[in-house]
Amino acid sequence: MNKKPLIENVFWQREEECMPKDQLRALQLQKLRALVARVYASVPAYTRAFDVAGVKPENIKSLDDIRKLPFTTKSDLRENYPLGYLAIPRREVVRFHGSSGSTGKPTFVAYSKSDMDNWANLCARFLYSGGLRPGMTAQVSFGYGLFTGGFGLHQGIERIGAAVLPASSGNTARQLMLLQDLRADYLICTPSYALHLADGIQSGIIDRSSLNLKGMFLGSEPWTENMRTRMEEGLGIYIENNYGLSEIMGPGVSGECAFRNGMHIAEDHFIVECINPETLEPVAEGETGELVFTTLNKEAFPLIRYRTRDISRLKYSHCPCGRTSVRMSRITGRTDDMLIIRGVNVYPSQIESALLAIPEASPHYMIEVSRPKHMDEVTVHIELKPNSMVDSISELNVIRDRICAGIANITGLRMKIHLEPPNTLERFEGKSRRVKDVRTLKD
Ligand code: ADP
Ligand code: ZN
Repeated sequence: MNKKPLIENVFWQREEECMPKDQLRALQLQKLRALVARVYASVPAYTRAFDVAGVKPENIKSLDDIRKLPFTTKSDLRENYPLGYLAIPRREVVRFHGSSGSTGKPTFVAYSKSDMDNWANLCARFLYSGGLRPGMTAQVSFGYGLFTGGFGLHQGIERIGAAVLPASSGNTARQLMLLQDLRADYLICTPSYALHLADGIQSGIIDRSSLNLKGMFLGSEPWTENMRTRMEEGLGIYIENNYGLSEIMGPGVSGECAFRNGMHIAEDHFIVECINPETLEPVAEGETGELVFTTLNKEAFPLIRYRTRDISRLKYSHCPCGRTSVRMSRITGRTDDMLIIRGVNVYPSQIESALLAIPEASPHYMIEVSRPKHMDEVTVHIELKPNSMVDSISELNVIRDRICAGIANITGLRMKIHLEPPNTLERFEGKSRRVKDVRTLKD
């Protein structure tokens, strides 16, 4: 009941989205060469980095030559704080944004008029593919501010000609009231906030049948397929995943089509690579690695081989929707998200997928990492579903054992499981913070 009919494979920019692959590669090469020449001449940080790497713009003769170029990292952006990578005169900047700062001091990015135009179209691509049309209303419950989520999606909705309801984040009761009274067709926010709002709907704060909600566009943090299934089934709607990061553009870098076999990356705007974060060499096709993006069209803040720290896989196989671009799998974590527990690498999303496979467990959880007596210990706090009808200690023990075994199966580690009463763990309005790592070096 929740699946959107697959016939709706419509395109916002058909020519670009369905461009034959050889034409796409030729376009990328032409743009890459122009980009490299431009940043070498106009961004001193790149002039230096290219000189150190011993590469000149004229050395870029094929797409594979991109590997001769140096990487750009978050710390490069910090070292050149605030605007060392600006590639146009300051007076031509029409917008600034910043990363949400979830991993330290924010980094700023800038946009020219043409960048803003491209960005609106990139957001419109996935919104249109997911069913947003003129005449409909989309409620944006992403924060409006330096974070790219709110304003980014806002302009994509306007570009399509649908109505924007800029609710911004926070104040759950008001969000639900808006959803009900202004009858939004789509809700746009983080998966964790969607979960929180879904709880409000399911617990009867408002009547599901009074809503006009058809779907949600969720992104900006890692989440799992199990989480999607739970929400789609609970609410009877269609939910689409989309991905972006401020350094590269903001939302719109990639988004799902109706076939849900990964998110199509806008390859007419970006070159993507997937590398082994240790060796920095490309991984084999379909293997897990860190995504690296090069922006082909950005005027104000072009980046060369930006290391996202996001872990994913690339799929180049044919997609029945007709789009020709490569698809990226769900982000399974960030290299800086990875927990090393007793020497084993674990991503929070692995724990989430094990938890959500247990029907009695709610999707609200918290992972606590400590180091009592010099040994790493993980305690997973998980709320039981309000209606899970568990009333004996022995039933609780069975659930706990199943969760523990599920996690051990995926991660190879045994973790302590604390079952918590419904509605006791923290809820999030923006990106979630579900991991508390209290280990210190002296432990
Ligand atoms: P930061 O969180 O580093 O301050 P941003 O606000 O630009 O910076 O967030 C971008 C990051 O959000 C991405 O690098 C990625 O880790 C995460 N992200 C965005 N969309 C998704 C998604 N659909 N799935 C998983 N992670 C996502
Ligand atoms: Zn597709």
